[in-house]
Amino acid sequence: MDPCIKIDKNNIIMKNLLSFTIVAAVLGLCSVATPLNAKEHAKEQATIAIAIHGGAGTIEKSNFTPAKEKAYRAKLKEAVEAGYAVLDKGGESLDAVTAAINVLENSPMFNAGKGAVYTHDETHQLDASIMDGKNRQAGAVAGVERIESPINLARLVMEKSVHVMLSGEGAEQFAAAQGVTLVDNKIFDTPHRYKSLKKAKAKMQLAKSLNKNYQAAHQALPVEYKVGTVGAVALDKNGNIAAGTSTGGMTNKRFGRIGDSPVIGAGTFAENESCAVSATGHGEYFIRYNVAADICARVKYQGKTIEQAGNEVIHDVLMPIGGTGGVIILDNKGNISLPFNTKGMYRASKSSNSPTYVAIFKQE
Ligand code: ASP
Repeated sequence: MDPCIKIDKNNIIMKNLLSFTIVAAVLGLCSVATPLNAKEHAKEQATIAIAIHGGAGTIEKSNFTPAKEKAYRAKLKEAVEAGYAVLDKGGESLDAVTAAINVLENSPMFNAGKGAVYTHDETHQLDASIMDGKNRQAGAVAGVERIESPINLARLVMEKSVHVMLSGEGAEQFAAAQGVTLVDNKIFDTPHRYKSLKKAKAKMQLAKSLNKNYQAAHQALPVEYKVGTVGAVALDKNGNIAAGTSTGGMTNKRFGRIGDSPVIGAGTFAENESCAVSATGHGEYFIRYNVAADICARVKYQGKTIEQAGNEVIHDVLMPIGGTGGVIILDNKGNISLPFNTKGMYRASKSSNSPTYVAIFKQE
């Protein structure tokens, strides 16, 4: 082998080694000199966020005593913080969503689980759904009567069955097979919801006596009889988003009526590349206008922000046709938007970039 070439080669290797050492040293120095950048970057990667709702409707300050308002705010705070605590411990967005919704399902103040509204037949039929934005897996239950936590069962449907939606008896059979205790429908009874049912029936009777058919009579019911519902959307430290919704549906609904809440794409949707949405409002409109998926499609295909997409669908699409309600939206950067076209919406949010926010009325 030619020694000159060897020397040259060695020189090149030495030079390369030298430059590598210098570069490494500089880089090392840089990282020592700017430790904040690295930390900031890590923090940015680990943004966590959650938003919840407890229904939208004729929610005006004049209808609240200070004590009632305080109680609602406290429960919303408790729910959003329960979900946030899961994320803060490094938990998954799906777990944060169910933790927050469980708090609301357990409270008689919200139309989901205990506190669910009555059907026309004076029973309770509950709907719920959940979606994982990481892989678009989803689970839903519709018209269940003996399930204490419909959102937990929706999750079991997603994780332990080959189906997306189970309804009524079949959903309950599946629940029992999964070890879920079936409860008496009466555990969902509350005096205030019963009063609402009686009022709704009287109002519909009146509308019928004016020759309105069932549809028109129901249409004539004030918005507070058609809304309620709880939901959550969350972003975990791995950048995965999820959405879930749980409801008793509409006061005085027909036996067997299913709303938008268990319908993936209408009341619930999550996809990491676009957004996570949970809806509340007049379900028939939310189903026909595929609200949750439409918002995420605008984000995905039209490059809109979640705020633009949500406002368009809630105010420009639904409002003109009488579709009342609202949504909570979250993207994988932790942006949150909470648009609604009713007088108020029970809502709360918290993220690693912003403190707990709790609101009920429009201007908050
Ligand atoms: N969207 C629910 C339903 O139509 C009701 C609500 O959100 O208030 O069943």
